[in-house]
Amino acid sequence: MSNQAAAIKILKSTTWFSKCSNELITALAAKLELLDVGEGHVFISEGLPMDKSMILESGSLFRTKMHVVDDLVEEEGGHNKRRASLSQSLRNMKAAEVSSTIQENAVVVDIVQGHGHVTGLLHIFSEDSCAFATVTSKTPAKVWIMSAKDFREILSSNPAFMLDIMGNMATELRTGGKSLRAVMSQLHSKGLGGDAKENEKETLRVLCYDTTSWVSDAFQPAVKAFNADPKNSFQMMVDFTTERLGPQSATYSAGYEAICTFVNDTADAGTIQTLSRLGVNMIAQRAAGFDRVDTKAARAYGMTVARVPAYSPYAVAEMAIALLMAVNRKTTKASSRVKMANFSLDAGLLGVDIHGKTVGVMGTGKIGQILCNIILGFGAKLICYDVFQNEAVKQAGGVYVTKDEIFAQSDILFFMMPLLPATRHTLNMDTLPKLKKGVMLINTSRGGLVDTKALLQGLRTGVISGCGMDVYENEQEYFFQDWSAKSIQDPDLTALLGEPGVVMTAHQAFFTKEAVDKITQTTMENLRDFKLGKCEFDHPNNCIPKDD
Ligand code: NAD
Repeated sequence: MSNQAAAIKILKSTTWFSKCSNELITALAAKLELLDVGEGHVFISEGLPMDKSMILESGSLFRTKMHVVDDLVEEEGGHNKRRASLSQSLRNMKAAEVSSTIQENAVVVDIVQGHGHVTGLLHIFSEDSCAFATVTSKTPAKVWIMSAKDFREILSSNPAFMLDIMGNMATELRTGGKSLRAVMSQLHSKGLGGDAKENEKETLRVLCYDTTSWVSDAFQPAVKAFNADPKNSFQMMVDFTTERLGPQSATYSAGYEAICTFVNDTADAGTIQTLSRLGVNMIAQRAAGFDRVDTKAARAYGMTVARVPAYSPYAVAEMAIALLMAVNRKTTKASSRVKMANFSLDAGLLGVDIHGKTVGVMGTGKIGQILCNIILGFGAKLICYDVFQNEAVKQAGGVYVTKDEIFAQSDILFFMMPLLPATRHTLNMDTLPKLKKGVMLINTSRGGLVDTKALLQGLRTGVISGCGMDVYENEQEYFFQDWSAKSIQDPDLTALLGEPGVVMTAHQAFFTKEAVDKITQTTMENLRDFKLGKCEFDHPNNCIPKDD
């Protein structure tokens, strides 16, 4: 066989080039050079410019990295001097010395073997790429060398060649992703050791994001109890991280089949794609709201997303009342004054009776309904707004009115609806003038229901006399963390904290013992149901709509 024919044959045997056009393969084959080397031949040295890619005809190669990490010295062009000089010295050694130097100074990243295996190709697309590892022959080997310069010249000579190679690369990356998922799922089902013994239970590995002490305190005993229960056909293993889920931290989930998230974790489309590629198939939201989950993307990737639909509506409704009383009767301010031995009474502490006032509740679902009953207990007039009217609320004495009417009539206004495109910025610069002057606004639902600029304007102009808020539009950066020794960079948050009429808590309305117990129990059940095969729309607490 001629050299050209042999080069074409080897290119067609690779996954990278097998489906490329004959024209491209012929052009590349004309530039391939076959090297027949003994053991210990250094093809490429870590840290030096990457000037070639290698296609294996026979034999095997080491890919190794120097384990020199302390004395890295950067030089112009990004090459690493220390690595480069060590790698360079390998080039000058005899074959036998190379093998022992590798064993002493380097770690083996992997062994390249198998006819048609390609290494270094992704590096030679760009001119200034450096070798990530040293490539050395482990055994006598026949290796086809493709010069980086020739490769780039051939590709840039014809735009069709570019598309051709990109099409193949896309296939390679997709199938690579699939293989990774397959390996991950094998590991998941066996436990990460990958060597399950007969009769050993399978393990569901879960990574719990945004963990604070109450989360691990609640979940650790629950996991222990689950694993001790002989009725359970699999084991649960939950690891905890304080990191919030987002596009970057999604990669931490490699090796886990499910993740557990909270209200400020972000599962946008890119994050879901990464999770799916890493083999994560379930998001267990330990909350009722799921407005940071891109449900369309979750549906597209076949991700199961379950939530805790109701844990304790009483916890949130009662907290809303606590905030109202703190705003109205200035209890936080009064208490700190008394603790400073200031027992005086002045207009700054003056409140109003709730009895006889008109109280508006927007969103009369589970929490809203309980709130309505408490409000009626004050002897207030209850008016409501919801896209669906709740019969129980009506029977209890609530009167449904239009949105404009609830704005115009309420002395006290509660936001109890979820954050949706239709409810985002329900309070904004346009609706602010519609409010009854002096209204007290209470929001325990989601910060995004309120445009903070409009709220600040309402407070400064006296349209809003006070605001009790357990949620804030841009809370994600700050809530659930201690910022007391740091400077807050968000001017709106600083302005709100400085407003005398504002009482703010950091998303703690849910935080009662009963609610935490229920969140833990339902989340464990959600994970169990997923592992037992109740996936996507079949999951009892699925939160992905079948269509939008
Ligand atoms: P729910 O689904 O039972 O009730 C929501 C109500 O809002 C429903 O009646 C619905 O019809 C209504 N609604 C929907 N779109 C509306 C619109 N455009 N205008 C007016 N009403 C509309 O939910 P829930 O359990 O009562 O919880 C309400 C919200 O409370 C949750 O979505 C969540 O965001 C928030 N929440 C906050 C905390 C916290 O700790 N601060 C805890 C739990 C829940």
